[in-house]
Amino acid sequence: MIKLHDLYFKPFISEEEIDSAVQRMVDQVANDIQDDIPVFVGVLNGSFMFVSDFVKKYPKPCEVTFIKLASYEGVKSTDDIQRLIGLTQDLTGRTVVILEDIIDSGNTLVEIHRIFENEEVKELKIATLFYKPEAYKKDFKLHYVGIEIPNKFIVGYGLDYDALGRNLPEVYQLKTTQHMTNFVLFGPPGAGKGTQANFLKETYNLVHISTGDVFRQNIKNKTALGMLAKSFMDKGELVPDQITIDMLNAEVEKNSDANGFIFDGFPRTNAQAKALDELMDGKDSQINGMIALEVDDEVLVERLLGRGKTSGRADDADEQIIRNRIKEYYKKTAILKDYYDAQDKYCGVDGVGSISEITERLNKVIDKL
Ligand code: AMP
Repeated sequence: MIKLHDLYFKPFISEEEIDSAVQRMVDQVANDIQDDIPVFVGVLNGSFMFVSDFVKKYPKPCEVTFIKLASYEGVKSTDDIQRLIGLTQDLTGRTVVILEDIIDSGNTLVEIHRIFENEEVKELKIATLFYKPEAYKKDFKLHYVGIEIPNKFIVGYGLDYDALGRNLPEVYQLKTTQHMTNFVLFGPPGAGKGTQANFLKETYNLVHISTGDVFRQNIKNKTALGMLAKSFMDKGELVPDQITIDMLNAEVEKNSDANGFIFDGFPRTNAQAKALDELMDGKDSQINGMIALEVDDEVLVERLLGRGKTSGRADDADEQIIRNRIKEYYKKTAILKDYYDAQDKYCGVDGVGSISEITERLNKVIDKL
């Protein structure tokens, strides 16, 4: 994801896709024009990258020139097209191919046809790399179209948002949902995730989802999900992935206008981590980081036995079950460190100390995310 001025954009069309679309257009044009020497007319500013790549691929002699028109204000296409530089050479009797980076409303095409009205060219053809069929309101024929796109604002590969983004070699699309901050609070049972999440959700105005808490709530309410989860939880085993993933998706959907989420106790397996990435992707968002509280095993056992005396949790009362939960964590869950490490998102935090000391350490890490 990238930020230009005040807006966020997500990757949309890769360099490879653009390259093959340009090649396809070149092949079609070269095939149609045969041995005529065409004049390619780029429409500045947006088309400079397209024109450059197009003519480099063009297999036969050709001429290149530019006209300069301006229409966009911020992210809106306006009706008011200004001609900043018109034609600077005589094109009588020539085969002209207009190279446009994008055609949406088609307003620029009106101005282009006006420019060529009195030029006695042999042929005038329109080629556009990107085309928004939903936005196009004119009748002019488009002879060559590279890639059809939905009616969303895009930047990159010559296209800008208030002058930024033209230099990007690939194309990005405006994110329509608001920007969220999401992180995974990670650590073995008893590391203090729940306690710290309560402070963090206040400080950063985030929704805290603890899968353990949601399961316990379901058990308390004797729901079908609760009954299913109970058999696994009582033994300190993980609830199967699909059940947990479906439940988490539903919890996120319940909070669709959240500023972001603290995921606590989720993901615990690679399949869950992948499902979470997909879920975030569907929301035009991502996990910003995994923040892991690191605490020694013996300290954990001691803390959990202490908590079991007052919490009433069956899985906190028995040392063997506690050790099994810690073992499950290292066997199945600790591998997630590698998952987030590979994305450069793992942040380890010392989880031994007073509650406020640990909160302070966490705040420092999150502020940097
Ligand atoms: P916790 O409160 O996070 O320690 O979770 C308590 C228990 O709930 C775990 O021992 C599991 O049985 C179950 N559980 C919680 N989150 C998950 C998850 N992401 N995947 C599978 N089981 C989970």
